[in-house]
This record gives sequence, structure tokens and C-alpha cells, in this order.
Amino acid sequence: MLPYAKLERYEGNEALFELVMMSIVSTYDGEPLHIHAEGLRGTGKTTIMRAARDILPTIKRITGCIYNCDPADPHCPHHRNLSAQEIVDLGVEEIPMPFLEISHSAKVGTVAGSIDLAKLTDGRNPEARLLPGIIPQAHRGIIFIDEINRLADTAPEITDILLDVMGTKPGHLQIEEAGLPVVHIKVAVSVWAASNPDEEPGPLEEIRRQLSDRFDMVCYMGRPTSEVVLANILKENSHNTKIHTNNSSNNPGDYEKQHERYTQILLRWAERYNQADLPDFLRNYMARLYVKHNLESIRAIEAMQQGAVLYSTIKDRDQASINDVIHMLPLILKHRLDSDTLIRVINDVDVKSGKESMFSFVNKKPNKPDIAEETEYFKNSGRPLKELKRQELINTEKSLDFQVD
Ligand SMILES: [Zn+2]
Repeated sequence: MLPYAKLERYEGNEALFELVMMSIVSTYDGEPLHIHAEGLRGTGKTTIMRAARDILPTIKRITGCIYNCDPADPHCPHHRNLSAQEIVDLGVEEIPMPFLEISHSAKVGTVAGSIDLAKLTDGRNPEARLLPGIIPQAHRGIIFIDEINRLADTAPEITDILLDVMGTKPGHLQIEEAGLPVVHIKVAVSVWAASNPDEEPGPLEEIRRQLSDRFDMVCYMGRPTSEVVLANILKENSHNTKIHTNNSSNNPGDYEKQHERYTQILLRWAERYNQADLPDFLRNYMARLYVKHNLESIRAIEAMQQGAVLYSTIKDRDQASINDVIHMLPLILKHRLDSDTLIRVINDVDVKSGKESMFSFVNKKPNKPDIAEETEYFKNSGRPLKELKRQELINTEKSLDFQVD
């Protein structure tokens, strides 16, 4: 697998690189950010997400705690009732921020938890204990799920667990095993998912709308269109490059240094994000958007708030601005709104920010009408987004982002 530092960046995947960084920063600070990358096969969405493991910072936990207890806030069944002194006595260790995957063959026991058979069958000291599953073991880290649309289709019981875990921040997990008391545990994990909406069983929002809404942001991956970029990708994938990389004539230490630099930057952002807040007027503005457009999901404006502050943080700005909100809007709303509402919301923000219409690509009318004509304008000449093919939407997503910046 290619190291993170070596991945090719281009217009169509830049948004995913940004979301990955934002989610790591937020996760490090204890606030999950759930992201979903949609796109055709070969757009590299899973490669980017998996390679992000290279740049994850470390976290401190109570020594040996499989639930990754924060020494300052122990939450697991073994440590939550201990005194401060008892925690100190157990000691602290540093581990890489967890990055675990849920596969399609995963069972509820593997994902949530099951009875610890090794402990149960220990000849000298048999004991019925719980073995936490992938989700509790990923506390304070990331869980990756490839082809989330297929999982939602074939594993409803795992989907229900995800709904609980992603329902609040931090989330909630209930581990049940016959013969053992039910364990309730909090889990702060960011769920990263990928899917190809063009393949069976179709887009996640059509399979399980509730789960789709749990993702704060959805990023539609574009294909590389530049010849230079494609040539670089070909070169990276050629047998020649691979052989020479394996012979380590290409010093792998260089990548490690670069990854270390990324990690340092992430830690600096995390420190800043910890202190950052959204200006009141922007918060009021989001509340107005919610009321005015009757947005169905309050998660949408919560994601707007979190997204705008995180985005301004990774852009090294002191404070979030309306432009940060605009940048995040398509990523936050596309999977939650019907296209007519989406176009109205974005146009609304657009008018507020006094920018050139973001939908000028839809409407070729040369002059932007004033606000009073807004409704008429859309009724008469705006092309409803639902008439666009999905692929066209995915492509214009990028032109949107471009015009905003
Ligand atoms: Zn613990």
C-alpha cells in the first residue's frame, strides 16, 4: 500500500483529504466526526482513508486497558469506579490512535463484544468476562467500513449498533451476552465509510436513510481528469516503481519524516480546535437556515457548526467565517435534502455572502437577479437538480467548491 505522503492529490479528491484531516483533529479532541466518501471504483477513496493510518497521532491510555480508558476520564467497566490514586498506580501508556475495520462478514459479537472464551476456559481460574468488540476497542479512534451501503443492506443488526454509536457524540454501546450482565458503555469513535452508489444495492441514503443522516459529511469523489496527474498515478503503479520501492532505493525514511510532520501539524490544529468556537452571528444564521428551510435533520446544522470551525482550523484561520460555512454546505446537505431544497438553501447562503451565484453553471442567465426576484427566478429558469443525472451532480460538486474558494 502506498504511504500517505505519496498519494496523488488532485481536484477531485482534495475534499476527502480535508475531511480526513478534520476528522482526525476532531477525534483527537474527543468529538467524533463521521465521514462518508462516495464514488466510482478506482477513485482511490478507500486508499486515502486507509493510508491516513500513517499520520495518526498517539493517545495516552491506562496501561493495558483494552477499552482505551483516558486516565483523566476512565469509562470502562474495570476502571470507571477506581479512585484517582488507583488510576495513577496502574500507570499510563501511549498507543497509536486506533484505526479498526468492520468487514462484511463481521458478526455482532465481533463488533460489539462477546464472552471471553479464553478466560472462561482457563483451567486454573475460569471466569465469565466480556471481550470488547471492534467498536469499544476503537474508542478515541476511527472505525473504517468499506461498502457501507452493502453492509446496511445485508447486516441490519450491525447497522442498528452503528445508529446507536453514531447517534450522539460521544455515542453509546450496549453489549449483551447470554449469562452476563448487560454492559452499557460510552464510545467516542469516528466512523469513516466508503461506498459506490452506482453499484448494488445503490446509494446509502436509499438503503437506510437514518444511517446516511448519521454521517456529518458526505464527499463525492471525482475522477482525475488531468493528464499529468494520471501519468503520475500510472508511474506510481508501474512494476518498475514498485520493484525499486521494495529494494528501498527510494528511502522509506523520507516518508516517515513527512508523516511525522503531518502528525505534528494535526496536533497543532487539535490544540487550536480545542479552543475555537463559532461566532454567534454565524450560529444564529445556521439556526435561521434550519427554520427557514424546514431542514429535517438537526444533525445537519450541528455538522455545519462543527464543520465550519474544523475547516477554518485546518486552513489556519483564527475564526470561522461565512465562507467556511459555504464550503461545507454541499458536503453536509447533499445526502440529507431533496435537490430543490438544496438549491434554495445554497442560493440563500449565496445571496448572503454577496458572491457570484454558485449555481451559475445551472442557469446561464448572465445577470444575477436581486433577492426580491429570487423565487420567480428559480421557478422560471432554474433547472431542478433532480433532473440532473447523479454523475452530473457529482461532477458539479467540484465546480461548486471551486467557485466558493
Ligand atoms: Zn479501562
